[in-house]
Amino acid sequence: RRAALAAGRTLPAVTRDGHTVTLLANVATAEESRAAVAAGAEGAGLVRTELPFLTARGWPGEAAHAAALGPVLGPLAGLVATVRTLDFAPDKLPPFLRGQAYAGEPPRDALAAQLRAVAAAGAGTRLRVMLPMVRSAAQVERARELLPAAVPFGAMVETGAAVEAVDEIAAAADFLSIGTNDLTASLLGLGRLDPALTPARAADPPVLRAIAATVAAGRRHGRPVSVCGDAAADPHAIPLLVGVGCRILSVAPSALDAVRAQLRELDTAECAGAAARIVS
Ligand code: PEP
Ligand code: MG
Repeated sequence: RRAALAAGRTLPAVTRDGHTVTLLANVATAEESRAAVAAGAEGAGLVRTELPFLTARGWPGEAAHAAALGPVLGPLAGLVATVRTLDFAPDKLPPFLRGQAYAGEPPRDALAAQLRAVAAAGAGTRLRVMLPMVRSAAQVERARELLPAAVPFGAMVETGAAVEAVDEIAAAADFLSIGTNDLTASLLGLGRLDPALTPARAADPPVLRAIAATVAAGRRHGRPVSVCGDAAADPHAIPLLVGVGCRILSVAPSALDAVRAQLRELDTAECAGAAARIVS
């Protein structure tokens, strides 16, 4: 079955009724970037940057970011590379931030250092940068000022606050990316490590409604909207994501073949009907 799926790599991710879905990959290592390209991803919809720094003793500087990111972006030359700025969180917190009330935003100088490294390391890619855990449009505007080059700048929608302010955030950002892992946890009141938090729970009505609202805001503002949480690779959630209008999915490299195969079996009108029943 794996071989049959892999044989579909050269086929487009098009639904039965002719709607193209852009398939991107979530990566954090050079190995994952190579696997994503080999499996036919059009690029990376999420490059996680915090993982090399989970044992850091302080905020990484520009050189440390450059050293970590260069190998990850190398295989993505000429392709979309959506680099997310540091996303330290309670479930991934380096020692130097433990025991403090870390609000999820690096200090300005630490963010500026990372953005300089990202701009340099991504020069050979179709670079885009995005901010995690966005709660307001002002946060997007403040961070954008630190970008050293004109690069598309996006906001992740993965908090209840972002959903509330999604119109202002869409106006302030060049694109939106829905983090269904945090969004589902937040809207259902579950911890990130709660076993009840599964990718399929993105299909729960409050979460699917928030995803639909984000896609609609993206449309109103002419901003591309992708889904990069684990729901984008979940067989139960995929038809519903497509049903509310998601046309860009970013998934683990190992999931690309199965997601493409499933998309090619879908009919968007059927998906829209199923999603509408849940959303209403
Ligand atoms: C998410 O929250 O859905 C997401 C993609 O980011 P992470 O899993 O890294 O928090
Ligand atoms: Mg997240």
